[in-house]
Amino acid sequence: MFQPKRQKPTREDNRRLAGIISAFLAVLLATSTISALAETPSPIPTPTSTPSITATPSPTPTAITDPPGFTEPSIDAADSLWVVVNKKRPLNPIKYKPVLDKSLNLSKPAADGFRALKAAVSKAKMGTLCLNSGYRSYATQSYTYNLQVTRYGKKVAENLAAHPGYSEHQTGLAADVSTTALGCRITNFGKSATSNWIAKNAWQYGFIVRYPNGETATTGYQYEPWHLRFVGIELATRMHDQKITVLEKYFKLPAATTY
Ligand SMILES: [Zn+2]
Repeated sequence: MFQPKRQKPTREDNRRLAGIISAFLAVLLATSTISALAETPSPIPTPTSTPSITATPSPTPTAITDPPGFTEPSIDAADSLWVVVNKKRPLNPIKYKPVLDKSLNLSKPAADGFRALKAAVSKAKMGTLCLNSGYRSYATQSYTYNLQVTRYGKKVAENLAAHPGYSEHQTGLAADVSTTALGCRITNFGKSATSNWIAKNAWQYGFIVRYPNGETATTGYQYEPWHLRFVGIELATRMHDQKITVLEKYFKLPAATTY
């Protein structure tokens, strides 16, 4: 067997070896210092708004983000996308008026959401979406409610119109929708394919069907397939993912069947 001939290292060799080792150690030290520096966690910035959704729903909706001015989602603030208004939770202030979109009778974020939803409905060949009713002022609601009381008495009127200051329409975030094929009437909307498509897909555009079938004991309202509520894509996605359909349940609020 061949054995390589070993030579005794000379002093010169030793010096060279020492040089190499010290150079190597220097590089090692420098590298570890750099990596240690790199690993030093930079302070995590405090999020100014709620974290954005990382999961992209499929198909990818037209991107609309919750706009500035809504950075502090609150179920109490009248101008929050997350505000919960029901028979137990009037608007605060009670005569609140949102900043309205110039062409649609909805608050600005809801109007943008509606446009995106309408485009998606058209793209899915589900007809032309139209707005039957959007923002209603305290005064309008007051007039409507009192008219119904005069006509049918208080008991019946309670089921027909919300008390002024207690209607979600006053937030500017509620949209009663239908299609042009139905003359934009809400009556038969629930039987349409568009209604079915909206119930399945509207969350991707930040809308929920606010008064779903079978949730009257919680919402205090009969099934209203036409009444959509803009809550923003983030909350709509969370509710969709958690399979929670009503705001009262998501926010663990008491049922709101009576005033
Ligand atoms: Zn409505």
